[in-house]
Amino acid sequence: MNRSSILLIYTGGTIGMKADGVDGVLRPFDFSQILSEVPELGKFACKIDYEVFSPLIDSSDVEPGMWQRLASIIFERYDEYDGFVILHGTDTMAYSASALSFMLENLSKPVIFTGSQLPVGAPRTDGKENLVSAVEIASAKSPEGKAMVPEVAIYFGSKLLRGNRSTKVNSESFEAFDSPNMEPLAQAGINIRYNDKLLLPVPDAPLRLHKELDTRVSILKIHPGITPGVVRNILLGEDTRAVIIETYGAGNAPSNPWFLDLVRQASAQGKILVNVTQCFAGTVDMSIYANGKCMEQCGVISGRDSTTECMLAKLFYLLGAGLDNESIKKKLSESLRGE
Ligand code: ASP
Repeated sequence: MNRSSILLIYTGGTIGMKADGVDGVLRPFDFSQILSEVPELGKFACKIDYEVFSPLIDSSDVEPGMWQRLASIIFERYDEYDGFVILHGTDTMAYSASALSFMLENLSKPVIFTGSQLPVGAPRTDGKENLVSAVEIASAKSPEGKAMVPEVAIYFGSKLLRGNRSTKVNSESFEAFDSPNMEPLAQAGINIRYNDKLLLPVPDAPLRLHKELDTRVSILKIHPGITPGVVRNILLGEDTRAVIIETYGAGNAPSNPWFLDLVRQASAQGKILVNVTQCFAGTVDMSIYANGKCMEQCGVISGRDSTTECMLAKLFYLLGAGLDNESIKKKLSESLRGE
């Protein structure tokens, strides 16, 4: 029987960081640290190859160029491996996982992001368990010999979550991620229990890489006291093609005339305006309250139960694909990758 093979891509993040001798702050360290701290990687029946980014980064430095690099590596080396594990900082992991889910269409192999809250060298690190289980998940096969998880996911704190449904929810807990509007894809205990009904099916078509991203997207977070100047700058910004409006509750925003007038102007300029809730869970439904209805009447479309991270990545991808506004709006109302 052929051994499975996994490509482990190390981009940086706390998992491989070390306290700097001078100022004591955590900075990325080299990959040898991870290999020596996790000898368990050598116990897997599968073959593990490594790709190490240079420079290693704190994920708050992530830029779309890194997503393009990651997606290209996976695309170019796709046939060599059964699965991919990406070691990544937690701060922007949900953005990166969302972006890769759109950039890699027809994925039939796992792409599992993981990292940790404590460096792998720390005595109470969560990094070992996260890494070892992520590798196990990336190499898991169904009884028919297909990948168990043919999608982009985040494994963290015993849970496997769909990448484009995930968000970082805690800056301290080992359970740093959640997908509030969707059950985990798997739960790890003594065994890893997969939620078969939720996992995406293995597609029939070949993998397609979408590298073009258009980042002219802004986020407007509504709050009491927001000023016309701030709203105008974001909604009517010259270099903005789409705006995610983070609203209250079920998609409600102020109903005062100056605000609605700016929303109408942005819509008339051909900007794509998407309503995403500030709530941790639940969905946008602009038909419930008059304040939500006003948004809809001004041309704002519903982002339903999307996370902001996912909507940002989806807009980068759809705008980058060179589609016209009507096609983009249609695709925003569809689930393209289980989002
Ligand atoms: N600042 C770190 C990063 O995102 C945090 C972490 O990895 O947990 O790279």
